[in-house]
Amino acid sequence: MSLKYTTVDDIPQIHQDLRRAFRTGKTKSIAFRKQQLLNLCYLVEDNWERIKDAFFADLGRPREEAQLLELNGTLGELKEAYDNVEKWAAPEKAPFSWLWFAMSPTIRNESKGVVLLISPFNYPLYLLLCPLAGAIASGNAVLMKPSELSPAMAALLTELVPRYLDPELYQVVNGGIPETTKILELPFDHILYTGGGRVARVVLAAAARHLTPVTLELGGKSPCVIDPKCDVKTAAKRIMWGKLVNAGQLCLSPDYVLVPEWFQETFVEALKNAYYELHPIDPKVSGQVTRMVNESHAARVKALIDNTKGTIVFGGEVDMETKYAAPTLIKDVRGDDSLMSEELFAPFLPVVPVKDVDEAIEFINERDHPLNIYVFTNNSAFKEKVFSNTRSGTAAANDTILHVMAYGMPFGGVGGSGTGCTTGKYIFDTFTHKRCTTDSPGWLDPALMAARYTPYNKSAFRLLNALLKPTLPPRDGSMPLATKLSYGAVIALAGLAATWLACTGKLDLRLPLRFLNRL
Ligand code: NAD
Repeated sequence: MSLKYTTVDDIPQIHQDLRRAFRTGKTKSIAFRKQQLLNLCYLVEDNWERIKDAFFADLGRPREEAQLLELNGTLGELKEAYDNVEKWAAPEKAPFSWLWFAMSPTIRNESKGVVLLISPFNYPLYLLLCPLAGAIASGNAVLMKPSELSPAMAALLTELVPRYLDPELYQVVNGGIPETTKILELPFDHILYTGGGRVARVVLAAAARHLTPVTLELGGKSPCVIDPKCDVKTAAKRIMWGKLVNAGQLCLSPDYVLVPEWFQETFVEALKNAYYELHPIDPKVSGQVTRMVNESHAARVKALIDNTKGTIVFGGEVDMETKYAAPTLIKDVRGDDSLMSEELFAPFLPVVPVKDVDEAIEFINERDHPLNIYVFTNNSAFKEKVFSNTRSGTAAANDTILHVMAYGMPFGGVGGSGTGCTTGKYIFDTFTHKRCTTDSPGWLDPALMAARYTPYNKSAFRLLNALLKPTLPPRDGSMPLATKLSYGAVIALAGLAATWLACTGKLDLRLPLRFLNRL
């Protein structure tokens, strides 16, 4: 499928048009945003089969897998934005404080302006439309740059977006490096880049020129840590399934397995059995495993597998003509192997033997923080040990991939795997400026705040300063004086109230007094 690239010279005008459209204030209306979000849901629902065709054209992706893991998840995220936009966009009251409440401190959730979304080839629908929903919900105009490596999906979205959404506010620009470079020369109010770390550096450098805030959704090598006492059969099946989804071309893909050396053969056998259970027919024939996206990715993964010093248990073939990389299990892989040199993004599963869980943790911590860490164990102490002694964007126990589909959870990397989150309310907040607002009544000065003015009035200043200065807990751990005084005041007030009620006959003190006597 050929994709018509946007002319580089047209890009500044498109950007200008988006800025102008944003300034009309059309997106301030929540009803408008809601309608656009609903239209976006309809875009997906009405074109369900065409979207699956595009996945197949770009990646040879099995239709069931695309539906189960990408289409449903996309529609779910869009619907969540549609359902919650009023709640998310509503102004928020600051926590109550006696000192400041009179100024009505309020946080206004305001749109940032024109947002740029740059997305990768591997989940070309989810990774473009979910952030788009967040940007629409937060009232921004959007310039979208889909990946040129998934041309069928990019062409389909270029056709559908103006049919379903306001064409003045939401525009798709297509192209490769020259076009994206031109886009990045322009000032945006936020950039969300999803892709690899190398290009992320280019994006960050370009954004720095305009002081544009950037959210990075990157990848990395996500390990699986195996406790030999786990449910081995289930663990092996879930890892192998997760590895082969989209032929490993997934930021959530389990990249490699860390297993105690003495347990390696048992776990490798379980992984082998799981593979043959999942694929009783060779996937090259059954078409149940996606292809590599293009020739250069096929050549990249071929070099990785050809250079491994590990032992190939099954697979190992990369057919350059069809861009098919065979599911491959490799054991006895060491930390300096070709397969450990970069994120695999391929259906290859290296098994790395380690001494024990401590060495597994050390192995992970010596590398960039991964996007995900997977732990397979029935022992909560084992899970906790791995979770609390490592860092990663997400961490899941006893499964792979599915955790990102749970609504309401933040999804994003840390360090080398990215910064910021891209799901639900979190992506709404990413594209929102939290604007602090107050409104001070005139009586504030006579009441208290006049003490701020020069020339300072000593006693008023002392009072205001005493109220403003926070009280810290005493270093010896005893109760702070201010807390003691306030408890004292509460007890005294309660005593006075009880005495008054008793004197007026509204409270009978005999019962509590009899009880106290018994003590
Ligand atoms: P990529 O970085 O090659 O491309 C992503 C986008 O950047 C594309 O739109 C492309 O046109 C643009 N681009 C490429 N070169 C550029 C340049 N020199 N200047 C400006 N723009 C440029 O990424 P990819 O290969 O499409 O995707 C794979 C990567 O994305 C993997 O690392 C994967 O882990 C990561 N990823 C992360 C997430 C996440 O949510 N964290 C999701 C999917 C993929």
